[in-house]
Amino acid sequence: MTDTSNPLTYPYDNTPAPGKTMEVAPGVYWLQMPLPMSLNHINLYLLEGKNGWTVVDTGIRGSETRDLWLDLFEKELRGKPIDQVICTHMHPDHTGQAGFISEYWHAPLLMSYSEYYQARVMSTMMREGGTWEMSEYFVRAGIDQSFLEEMREGRSNFMPEAEDRPLPGAFLRMKDGDKLEIGNNQWLVITGNGHSPEHVCLYCKELRILISGDQILPVITSNVSVQPTEPFANPLVGWLESHEKFKKLLPNDILVLPAHNRLFYGVQERLQQLIDHHEDRMLLLEENCTTPQKAIDLLPHLFKRKLESYSLFMGLGECIAHLHCLMGRNRIERTLEKDVFLYRSIDPTLPARARPEYHEEPDESPQMV
Ligand SMILES: [Zn+2]
Repeated sequence: MTDTSNPLTYPYDNTPAPGKTMEVAPGVYWLQMPLPMSLNHINLYLLEGKNGWTVVDTGIRGSETRDLWLDLFEKELRGKPIDQVICTHMHPDHTGQAGFISEYWHAPLLMSYSEYYQARVMSTMMREGGTWEMSEYFVRAGIDQSFLEEMREGRSNFMPEAEDRPLPGAFLRMKDGDKLEIGNNQWLVITGNGHSPEHVCLYCKELRILISGDQILPVITSNVSVQPTEPFANPLVGWLESHEKFKKLLPNDILVLPAHNRLFYGVQERLQQLIDHHEDRMLLLEENCTTPQKAIDLLPHLFKRKLESYSLFMGLGECIAHLHCLMGRNRIERTLEKDVFLYRSIDPTLPARARPEYHEEPDESPQMV
C-alpha cells in the first residue's frame, strides 16, 4: 500500500502466516503472533546464531500463542535450539511467553534492568487490584471511583493464568551501548524511554537493520502514559528526548523492524512525525485549557471514540503525560480544587502560537501497546 502523502515505504506486501517465519535479511526472520484486541498482531523476530536462535519478543500469554510457538519449534528452527530470549520491554505482549520459551529451552532471558524489574512488579500489581493511590489518581483526574472495578475487568486479557509460566526468575542485563554477537552480526543495544522505562532497540550497522520494539512504530503511536504507580511522572519528556537521540544515531536508509504494523524505511521522517504529533497534541491541550479543565474532560479533544475501561485508562494516562510535559515547560499550571486537579494555560505566547484550525484529527482511540 502506498500513501503518497507519507514519506515512509513498506517493502513487504505480505506478512508471515501465524507460526511461520519470513527471512528479511541474512539470518533475520520475521514472525507474527495474534493479539486479542483491535491491534491484532505483534511482530517478533528470530536471529540465527552459530549454534542456536535468539528470540526477540515473545507474544502475549495464553495457549494460542504458546501452541504457535510449539509448532514453530518443530518446523522452523532447522534443528537448532533457541539459546537466548530477548524482551525489548516489559509489556505483556512482549514478555507473555518469555517464561515458557526460557523454561522449554533453558535459554536465558536478556532484558534491561528497569524493564525486568518493572515487568515483575507489574505482574503482581495486576493481581492486587485497587489501592488508595489508584483511587486518588482517578479521583484527581475527575473520574468516579467505580471506574476502578470496570477497568479491572477490561485488563483481563493481560492477566496471567495458572497455565502461563511467570517471567524467568533470573535475567542477563542489557544496557545502552552493549554489543551482542549473534551469528556473524553485531547488534548494538540502544535504549529509549517514555513508553517504558528502559526500552531496548537493537541496531545492526552491517545489515542496516533496527529492531525497534514499540519505541518506533510506523503507523500507530505508542502509548506514553502517566500511571497511578508514579502519578507525577513526566514520561513524555523522556519520549521526546529519546526520539532526538535516535535521530542523531540512525541513518535514514535502514530497514526498521517494529513490534507492530509493517516493516518500513524512513526512520528519520517517522521520528520527526512522532515528535510533531506530540507537540501538536500539547498545543491542542493548551488551547483548550484557557479556562481550568479536568483531565477527563480533555479526552474528547485527543480521541475520537468515547473511551471505556482499559482504553480510558490508557487515554487518560496519555492525556496526563502531555499535561505534565506542558507543566514542565511552564505552559500549564495545575491546582487542586475539591480533590480534583484543574489544568490551566498560563503561557503568554499562546495566542501567537495557537492554530486551532490546523490540528491533526483526534486519534481513533489510544493504543493498548
Ligand atoms: Zn509496549
